[in-house]
Amino acid sequence: MPTNWAGNVVFAADRIARPATVAELQETVAAADRVRAFGTGHSFNDIADTTGTMVSVAGLPGDVRVAPDRRTASVPAGVPFARVARALHAEGLALSNLGSLPHISVAGAVATGTHGSGDRNRVLSAQVSAIEYVRADGALATVGRGDDAFGGSVVALGALGVATRLELDVRDAFDMRQDLFLDAAWDPVLDAFDAVTSGAYSASLFIQDWASSAIDQILWKSVVEDPDAVPALPPGVDAGRSLARAVSPVAGASDDTVTTQGGSIGPWLERLPHFRHDAEPSNAGDELQSEYFIDRALAPRVLESLRREAAAVNPALLVSEIRTMAADDLWLSGAYRRDTVGVHFTWKPDPAAVAPALAAVERVLADADARPHWGKLVGPAFTDRLPRFPRGRAFRELAEYADPGGKFRNAFLDRVLGA
Ligand SMILES: Cc1cc2nc3c(=O)[nH]c(=O)nc-3n(C[C@H](O)[C@H](O)[C@H](O)COP(=O)(O)OP(=O)(O)OC[C@H]3O[C@@H](n4cnc5c(N)ncnc54)[C@H](O)[C@@H]3O)c2cc1C
Repeated sequence: MPTNWAGNVVFAADRIARPATVAELQETVAAADRVRAFGTGHSFNDIADTTGTMVSVAGLPGDVRVAPDRRTASVPAGVPFARVARALHAEGLALSNLGSLPHISVAGAVATGTHGSGDRNRVLSAQVSAIEYVRADGALATVGRGDDAFGGSVVALGALGVATRLELDVRDAFDMRQDLFLDAAWDPVLDAFDAVTSGAYSASLFIQDWASSAIDQILWKSVVEDPDAVPALPPGVDAGRSLARAVSPVAGASDDTVTTQGGSIGPWLERLPHFRHDAEPSNAGDELQSEYFIDRALAPRVLESLRREAAAVNPALLVSEIRTMAADDLWLSGAYRRDTVGVHFTWKPDPAAVAPALAAVERVLADADARPHWGKLVGPAFTDRLPRFPRGRAFRELAEYADPGGKFRNAFLDRVLGA
């Protein structure tokens, strides 16, 4: 059977369906006892798995269609963000944000609350203004912003139906630059945390060694208004400026997979993602990932506490990344109703080494009212996941209403929603 991208989940599906039309998809869903959509398989847990039919919508016909007012675009659910980005850019338009990886499918990313960074940028799912779903009975239905259940219908874990098209907010295309700062001492960064993360349109802090007195990389992605302006870290935060074309956040990994840095100006779609759309991303699949979302007001204290767990975390770690998100209204979003900091861990592909590291991390994060990323690994303290989200119970009711026979259920959803 096929596996997810990281190879740590072997899918248990007895059949994979790749419908070529929406009508065929509707028949497949209506006829199935158990059915589950999958995107590009970039999640690190069994969220996309099923013992029944796995269905891919990547082969459905349809293109990116820009609305006459040029404020939204309707996009096919199964295509990668890279394809949507190219089509929008050709029309002089843009998405306001992207995740680190442009290879992931739009529907898969939206279903798990995938995010990029930026104090004023919301998670990618919050760019959705409407979704068309094939429901459990095979009927086609659209839910849009303003509808009663919209807040629960976007980050929906594949539990409400199979998405065929999504309508996304768009804006005019823009130019960006990436500036990479090296070895900034921790204490001044924590003292000026808000200024460091708000100093650019999107900011990421990369940590390869939690015991170090310095943060290995600070990556700023800035919207270019004045081509001669050179972004600079806030006063008191000292760091080297990298002039290299690109430096991977993972020590020792190829720099060729990384989008252009060094202050070079380019279009939004070639700067917002960390990884190039035309290269095998990140550590080429030899990794696992976990991520937790905390109230941004707690970030300096939580990061200090995590530094004290360095001895447990470092042996399993490839790299950590700290990003920010603006609050939104999506029930299962990591940033639901609070401005948020995401604390991410890319682990070595060694579950035995990851387990004690996760336990150490979760000791800190459980006390910080953290929410886990839906598409990544958790340890025992976060296995139930749903109670961490204030509207979790409302989502469970919505899922039961939308799918009374449990057609879209799988082991992951049984753990989260209750069998
Ligand atoms: C190298 C790497 C980098 C990453 N970077 C980021 C990042 O920057 N930010 C971040 O937040 N996450 C990141 N992730 C995690 C990733 O964005 C999520 O796991 C995302 O869900 C993957 O999308 P996918 O298309 O592979 O979905 P899949 O893993 O295939 O599916 C995920 C979920 O989406 C549902 N789904 C898929 N298609 C449909 C559909 N048509 N209708 C209804 N439900 C559907 C599935 O049922 C499942 O529940 C990264 C992952 C990797 C491997």
